[in-house]
Amino acid sequence: MSDTFDAIKRAEEALLFKTYSRYPIAVARGLGSRLWDMDGKEYIDLLAGIAVTGLGHCHPEIAEAIADQAKKLIHVSNLFYQREQLDLARRILATAHFDKVFFCNSGAEANEAAIKLARRYQQRVQNRNAFEIITFNGCFHGRTLATVAATGQQKFQDGFAPMPEGFTQIAWGDPAALEAAISDKSAGVLIEMIQGEGGIRPARPEFIRAVERVCKDKGVLFMVDEVQAGMGRTGSWWAFQHFGVVPDIMTTAKSLANGLPMGAMLGTDEVARAFVAGSHATTFGASALVSAAASKVFEIIERDHLLRHAGELGGWAMRRFEAVGKACPGAITEVRGMGLMIGIELAFPGKALWEALLQKGFILNLTQEKVLRLLPALTIGQEDLERFALALEALLPEHAA
Ligand SMILES: *Cc1c(COP(=O)(O)O)cnc(C)c1O
Repeated sequence: MSDTFDAIKRAEEALLFKTYSRYPIAVARGLGSRLWDMDGKEYIDLLAGIAVTGLGHCHPEIAEAIADQAKKLIHVSNLFYQREQLDLARRILATAHFDKVFFCNSGAEANEAAIKLARRYQQRVQNRNAFEIITFNGCFHGRTLATVAATGQQKFQDGFAPMPEGFTQIAWGDPAALEAAISDKSAGVLIEMIQGEGGIRPARPEFIRAVERVCKDKGVLFMVDEVQAGMGRTGSWWAFQHFGVVPDIMTTAKSLANGLPMGAMLGTDEVARAFVAGSHATTFGASALVSAAASKVFEIIERDHLLRHAGELGGWAMRRFEAVGKACPGAITEVRGMGLMIGIELAFPGKALWEALLQKGFILNLTQEKVLRLLPALTIGQEDLERFALALEALLPEHAA
């Protein structure tokens, strides 16, 4: 490591709250699925800013849309009408059955909005004293107090007691547990179709259909968190669309504006009745700048057929990684995922292998200690994934031994 890197590390220790454990790379620039560090070393980026730069780094058309909009109007607050928001709303609503959208700035904020909407819908529209949100083991919904309560994992709650009330967590994949957990206090069920932070765990279709059925039967809102799986990553606009279900509310964020901060909550007209002027708000939500960038993202995904690309290439990659596993028996326990949201579960703790891959120039993430997580840009080419497969194949034997 150069002195410059060490200097950056020391400066960060002096200047920033110590909330992150960083990868040992100071990133200088990016283009498409490539990143370069301060010393000019090139990396193939299979993580895309944790599923954020879905169209790759510094996409020229996005950069241009941002630059053009920045010269026209950046931000005026939500006290004003803005055409850029409506252009974006039309695009996002055209991707699914929802009628209305609320824009915000992050995934946690989108989930906060969904939690508030579910409570207010039950309390003000249905006149039921219901407030409880049901979530599932292994889920991740964000880091605000309410979304940490929804996430339910001790490691994210440590030292932050008391947690907000009204959250119950149950077993993942068990419809009977859901049926048993629902009471007259239940307002909504919040669920990922494919758990991301939880280790890339796709739900079984029967489970998701059972969740929908139980929700509809009991008058509880069916809310899907598509913050990570959304925006085409799984091969359809939204992961729930693979399951043939019709959620009441959906949240999304990460790749919405290809790196500018944006979140959104979508809902049906029925649930949207619960919010009136003043019920909920955000200062930054859907500024003209971010909206213009996000609209461009939708335009490019459609024009370049990236949903199909993500689905097909993801299918190819998962078969390829399974073949890597066959070549080194006992090293990989499972390859799973949907489209370009892929987990390779190792039979051994993966830290050393992950470091070796990083050393070789592959950026990916390790979750749950054993799961190599790939969330590449939807624009990535097969060659880059093949390079990764070859590197993995070469490194597996010594690390699995
Ligand atoms: C990342 C993530 C969140 C939180 O999003 P932030 O933008 O970090 O607040 C919520 N839900 C899921 C499924 C996520 O992957």
